[in-house]
This record gives sequence, structure tokens and C-alpha cells, in this order.
Amino acid sequence: MSVLVYTESDKGTFKKIALETASYAKTVADQLGTTVTAVTINADDTSVLKNYGVNKVLKVSNKDLDTFNAQRYADVITQACNKEGTKVVILSSSADSKYLAPILSVKLNAGYASNVVDAPSSLEPFTVKRTAFTNKAFNFSKIESDVKIVGVSKNSYGLYENSVELTEEDFSPSIPESGVHQKSINKSSDKVSIADAEIVVSGGRGLKGPENWGMIEELAEVLGAATACSKPVSDLGWRPHSEHVGQTGKPVASNLYIAIGISGAIQHLAGINASKVKVVINNDPEAPFFKAADYGIVGDAFEVVPKLIEKLKEFKAQNA
Ligand SMILES: Cc1cc2nc3c(=O)[nH]c(=O)nc-3n(C[C@H](O)[C@H](O)[C@H](O)COP(=O)(O)OP(=O)(O)OC[C@H]3O[C@@H](n4cnc5c(N)ncnc54)[C@H](O)[C@@H]3O)c2cc1C
Repeated sequence: MSVLVYTESDKGTFKKIALETASYAKTVADQLGTTVTAVTINADDTSVLKNYGVNKVLKVSNKDLDTFNAQRYADVITQACNKEGTKVVILSSSADSKYLAPILSVKLNAGYASNVVDAPSSLEPFTVKRTAFTNKAFNFSKIESDVKIVGVSKNSYGLYENSVELTEEDFSPSIPESGVHQKSINKSSDKVSIADAEIVVSGGRGLKGPENWGMIEELAEVLGAATACSKPVSDLGWRPHSEHVGQTGKPVASNLYIAIGISGAIQHLAGINASKVKVVINNDPEAPFFKAADYGIVGDAFEVVPKLIEKLKEFKAQNA
């Protein structure tokens, strides 16, 4: 009857969200008076999970699962749930987990709440706090089914170290042939991806053209950040569509989002509301983005950004 958490990994290494979902699962398990079991898929070293309250790992190693496939991953988690007699399953709210959760929900006949930002406020009825209206509001949702699936928003709950004894078990679920065949093309494997980035440096049409993106990339490199852009920038072909952030692009839930030469249209803000600290650089003091910003610099990006890079490099050199 343990709480089951699916801990996401990339090329064998746990993502930060895996440790956050484990922390969340530990809280729920404490509330329910039970333990935490994690399902890992092709993760190399699972021992770190013991620091975040995981008592048992069901370790799946299968090369057919190297590429994410929602149907197959849902099969794995379903079989793990049945084995453990699980009533509460914790996932992240990453794009992958949001894709597999509805499939899992059908297989387990379970209610599913996505974008959850806090521990359950009540167990009977099981009630969770979620973001709504592109992170502009919260709602409290009750899950009334026997089995419950909770999708935890990135950077919302936090990491809580909670050292426990860990046992590991090799788990070999049966993986049926999937009707969906996927091909994974990783074009920018050496770069930080927007979805996983702690810091995102984003540029808009105020940068005038693709030839000026050197300073955006340099700032991102100094900060260890991912690069992103507004929709028109990718529509114009200045940057790849994979970098387009917003309502019709990718959502970002970074700790720091730096928007340079971006006006702050509602469709752009829809994708970045979940970011913790927003810094805006714009030469128009009336730009709507300043209303959503935590810190704003009114100035010409072509003057401000090089100075910022210079100061950051100095700071890094002094603190190396
Ligand atoms: C259905 C729909 C969906 C959409 N989805 C998205 C989406 O997902 N993501 C998205 O981004 N947009 C989306 N849009 C488009 C959105 O409405 C805006 O048009 C877009 O976000 C504007 O991009 P921008 O801020 O880069 O460009 P602009 O609106 O042209 O703004 C450029 C900004 O740069 C500033 N600037 C100019 N020169 C400088 C300088 N030298 N230094 C500093 N600042 C300078 C200007 O003051 C201005 O604020 C969508 C629109 C629709 C209708």
C-alpha cells in the first residue's frame, strides 16, 4: 500500500524533478502512515533516492524503454502499482508525465490531478491545490476514485532531504509491442533544455535580428542557462521553434527567467508565469512585461546585456 512515485531520468541520471516528486511522495506517505516506492526506468544509480525518503526502488532496465513512450511507460507504472497495491501515484507535471498520466489513469481507473503545487490539504476527501488559468489562480481539486494520480508542478514543492533505508529490487514488467513508434532526434544535446533549465535567457523581436543572438547565447553560457525566444522570433526563423516560449510554445518553470526585448504579451506570459524570478530588460518603460517582472531594467538591450555579461564574468572570476 506504499505511495508509488515515478522518478524521471535522462540518460541514466535523475532529473531534479525526480527528487522533487520523491520529496512530495514522502510527505504524502507520512500523511497516510505508509512508505514510498519509486519506479525507475533505466536510471544508473538509484541510491540518491534514499536521501529523499524513498524506501524501496523497483528498478527497471530495458533498452526498449530508452526512448520515452507514454504507452509503454504507463504499462510499467501500472504493473508496479498492481504489484505494490498502490492507491496513490505521484508523477511530475513534465510534458512526458502529462502525456502518460491520462493513459495511466485509464489503466488504473484512477482520477488524475495535474499541476499540483502543494501537499494534499485533506486525505478524506483527497484534496490537492493546483494552478489554474496559466498559473494566475489556484483551485482545490478532490480526487474521489480509489486510486489517485497526482502530477506535481516543477519547482513548486521543493526538495526535502529525508534520509531513510533503501532496498532495491530489479523489476521486469512485461512490455507489450506499442502501436506508437517514436523516433527521437536530439538536435541540441550539448545545450540545457528549456524544460529542465533552472535559468532561462529569452530574447524577443527587440533584438532586431538573428545576427544579434550572440550576446543572448553568451549571457546564457555565463549563467549556465537555456536560451529561449518569443513566438515571432521563431516564426521569423531567427531561432528554432523548440525555443519558443508561451501559450502556443513551451512552458517554462525556471527559478530565473530573463526576458530581453520581449514586450510581455499575454500569450508569452502564459508560458512563464510559473517561473520564480522574472527579470525584464526593455527600452520601453511602458512595456507590459514590467508589470509581471520582479526586477526590471529600462534600457537598450545592446548596451545593458554586454555590461551584464562583463559584470557576471568579473563576479565569477572573483568567486572561482
Ligand atoms: C493565438 C496566439 C498565440 C500566441 N502565442 C504566443 C506564444 O506562445 N509566445 C509568444 O511569445 N507570443 C505568442 N503570441 C504572440 C504575442 O501576442 C506577441 O505578438 C509576441 O509575444 C510579441 O513578441 P515580442 O515581444 O518578441 O515582439 P514585440 O511585440 O515586437 O516586442 C518587442 C519588444 O522589444 C522592445 N525593444 C525594442 N528594441 C529594444 C532594445 N534595443 N532593447 C530593449 N528592448 C527593445 C520593445 O519595446 C518591445 O517591448 C501569440 C499570439 C496569438 C494571437
